[in-house]
Amino acid sequence: MVFYRKYRPQTIDDLDSAAVRETLTSVLKKDVPHAFLFTGPKGLGKTSTARILAKAVNCTTREKGKGERGKTSVEPCNVCDQCIAITSGTSIDILEIDAASNRGIDEIRDLKEKIRLSPISALKKVYIIDEVHMLTTEAFNALLKTLEEPPEHAMFILCTTEVQKVPSTILSRCFHISFNLATPEELVRSFNRIIISEKAEVEIEALSMIAKLADGGFRDGAKMLEEIITLAGGKKVTKEFIEEKFKVSSIIFHVAAMFDVFKSKDTQKGLQIIADLAAQGVDMKHFIQKLMEGLHEQMIAQVTTKPKLSDTDLTLSEIKELFVLLSRAYGEMKYAVLPQLPLELVVLEWTNVDTPHPDPLPQGERESSWTDS
Ligand SMILES: [Zn+2]
Repeated sequence: MVFYRKYRPQTIDDLDSAAVRETLTSVLKKDVPHAFLFTGPKGLGKTSTARILAKAVNCTTREKGKGERGKTSVEPCNVCDQCIAITSGTSIDILEIDAASNRGIDEIRDLKEKIRLSPISALKKVYIIDEVHMLTTEAFNALLKTLEEPPEHAMFILCTTEVQKVPSTILSRCFHISFNLATPEELVRSFNRIIISEKAEVEIEALSMIAKLADGGFRDGAKMLEEIITLAGGKKVTKEFIEEKFKVSSIIFHVAAMFDVFKSKDTQKGLQIIADLAAQGVDMKHFIQKLMEGLHEQMIAQVTTKPKLSDTDLTLSEIKELFVLLSRAYGEMKYAVLPQLPLELVVLEWTNVDTPHPDPLPQGERESSWTDS
């Protein structure tokens, strides 16, 4: 099983986001709301948290205020029948609906019909609706009706990556928990849970480096850590090892060099950088991402702090133009026969190589050369 699944948090204490941990703890000490809305980017543990919450409200041994040693009193025990059924996904009272498939039409109709029925064995029937923003208007209306007058035994956990697409009538009836990108410390905390169980040896500097590369995602971080531990094959993972495997310094160096090219419009140099990267086997998609992140940083800085630009800085309109070219190249990567080609075309276009120059040949001669061939 992959690390991200294998080491899915099972208790509130396992949750690596400090804010989510604290909010859930305080919520569970009071009267638990009947509807939650979990929002935030993919890979931050919304569904795992929903399952933990479902366990916490259904755990038969959990008693408010009387925690086991070292554990938060609101924790599910993970050993009672309810906890075990929910962890293994076999509880018939915990219903997970993926609104992205079929846009939830049948599921919400079913929900409306069956919500009044008491749970079979759990204390609360919990509906976890993933990607809730995908529901049809009809399904949203049906959901709203049940949220307005929910039966005592029901609880809803709505998850979404696109909160702006959820109607405000729904939002206002939910207790909102927002899942933000993980801080490097939170990522290292999540890595430590994994490496202790895997008995892997990883330097603390190496962990910080993986945290940086994971860009705030627990899922991406776990994937990367898994890849690195596998590559290390039982050896201690050092910072140097990661640098070597991920060509970290090389990418950072080449991103800086490419920015020089964007400013100087030096075609040869641009193509040379791409050739170097291709020779090293660097993932071009990843490189484009890094370029766009750099541009994005510059754009935000120019809009918010309005710094005085030097000759080596790109102007706002240059940044915008580059965004268009790089986004296009990124999209074309998927079908590119040569992975470096879309980026090379960006360099050519940016440095004006393919701008039509005045035709050096008289019109007549040019036409004849066409007919010759
Ligand atoms: Zn339990």
